[in-house]
Amino acid sequence: MRIYEIHHCIVRTRFPPSPTGFLHIGGLRTALYCYLIAKQTKDSFILRIEDTDRERTVPGALENIVETLYWAGITPDEGVVLQNSMVGQHGPHGPYIQSERLEIYRKHAQILLDTHCAYYAFDTKDDLEAMRTRETAAGNPAPKYDASVRMRMKNSLTMTKEETKAKLDAGEPYVIRMKIPEGNVVRFTDDIRGNVEFKGMEIDDQILMKSDGFPTYHLANVVDDHLMQVDLVIRGEEWLSSTPKHLLLFEYFGWPAPRYAHVPLLLNQDRSKLSKRQNDVSVQDYIDRGYLPEAILNFIALLGWNPGTTQELFTMKELIEQFSLERVQKGGAVFDREKLDWFQGQWIRKIAPKEFADRIRPLVAGKYPEAENDPKFHDRAALIQERITFFSEAPEMLSYYYVDPAITKDLLANKKQKVTEELLPQILAMLETELTKIAEKDWNPAHLEKILRGATDSLGLKIGQTLWPLRAALTGLPFSPGAFEVAAALGKAKTLKRVEKAKQVK
Ligand code: GLU
Repeated sequence: MRIYEIHHCIVRTRFPPSPTGFLHIGGLRTALYCYLIAKQTKDSFILRIEDTDRERTVPGALENIVETLYWAGITPDEGVVLQNSMVGQHGPHGPYIQSERLEIYRKHAQILLDTHCAYYAFDTKDDLEAMRTRETAAGNPAPKYDASVRMRMKNSLTMTKEETKAKLDAGEPYVIRMKIPEGNVVRFTDDIRGNVEFKGMEIDDQILMKSDGFPTYHLANVVDDHLMQVDLVIRGEEWLSSTPKHLLLFEYFGWPAPRYAHVPLLLNQDRSKLSKRQNDVSVQDYIDRGYLPEAILNFIALLGWNPGTTQELFTMKELIEQFSLERVQKGGAVFDREKLDWFQGQWIRKIAPKEFADRIRPLVAGKYPEAENDPKFHDRAALIQERITFFSEAPEMLSYYYVDPAITKDLLANKKQKVTEELLPQILAMLETELTKIAEKDWNPAHLEKILRGATDSLGLKIGQTLWPLRAALTGLPFSPGAFEVAAALGKAKTLKRVEKAKQVK
């Protein structure tokens, strides 16, 4: 049994993004999975910021990451949080921003130096270049700073204690490297991938502390996962090859390692790695396009996870109840934009009608000020809720209530509906006659339908042949709510006026 399945046992998870840009859609999925597992036990989801790579740190990225997580409802219980809309920190293991923890990493690098698991290296760029040239000439196709060469380099293993101290005292630049044992085999059980084995690790002695005094990702990540008492590391597949290094560090420190679960890559439709060229990759792009957080969450939850049932729509609460890493696939998950739009439509429909109207009203009023105080706005909004995918479609979809639409013959006629230009005068004349006869008190969709169906039959036409030109005349749009609803909502006077106008169209 997995530890996080024992529900009384707390499982602490963390999401530790690097602020190198806006939050990536894949990052949001990882954060969601971490959050779901943490919420299955207790409030133990940690947000940590890994900003030790100073060159890659982008101003504003940290704020974007935190705000985007809150937008999605993936709110951290601990770590970097929003307090009164400002980025703050909360919890007993802080600080949670790595650049504020340099002293902690220095202390831990010292422990590894003292236990001979790490060493100082003073090699210059030229020294490293010379080593590579030498090794290549000696027939080593992939030269590395590893056990086979380290005893020939400028480091604290090849120098006396005094020499090393003198260099340090003189302020010479150095890095601290981790000793990677030769031909090491690392085995571990990944909660998604099962047994994973790395044989004869072909890696160099990893740098743990850089010459700028900042730790590398590997050291800071391991130290923090330990000090922040992380039980389960959920992260992208691209980090799988780092795990042996991390496990070795845990071993060197004498700490128990957390469990690991590497989630599958996100892929473009052509199964290449999800890229900007084929898709929007930052969550901000989706927010700007008007996607609802519910739709994005629902969609990304299912990118790599399946519930084992036919259920497709999930609230956050349902995800917390049903999510398990066991049902996360190993293979890459294809990012299907059409599916995302389908979820978006589904979640738009689920909004309570009043809330839907309230949310679109400012957009519509921005274009048609009359909408601001339109007493019928809620009824009109209700007619389009089933038909739009984005709020931004609302102004056009309601335009015909506020302005007379521009109508063309091309729109009135329609090949598919068998409305030819020759038939149009006859149809419009019939519409005018029949609609004029209907009393104001009977002006409702059901009655309109009854009358117009009867009249259409008498002309020997199909109902689509009457409805298409009527709807086109009333809305000026190729897509809109149905003709009866729109006619009813517009009222008799406006409807007749527009049918008359349609008759004049040349
Ligand atoms: N800082 C890493 C990132 O940006 C974290 C990887 C991990 O979860 O260990 O994705």
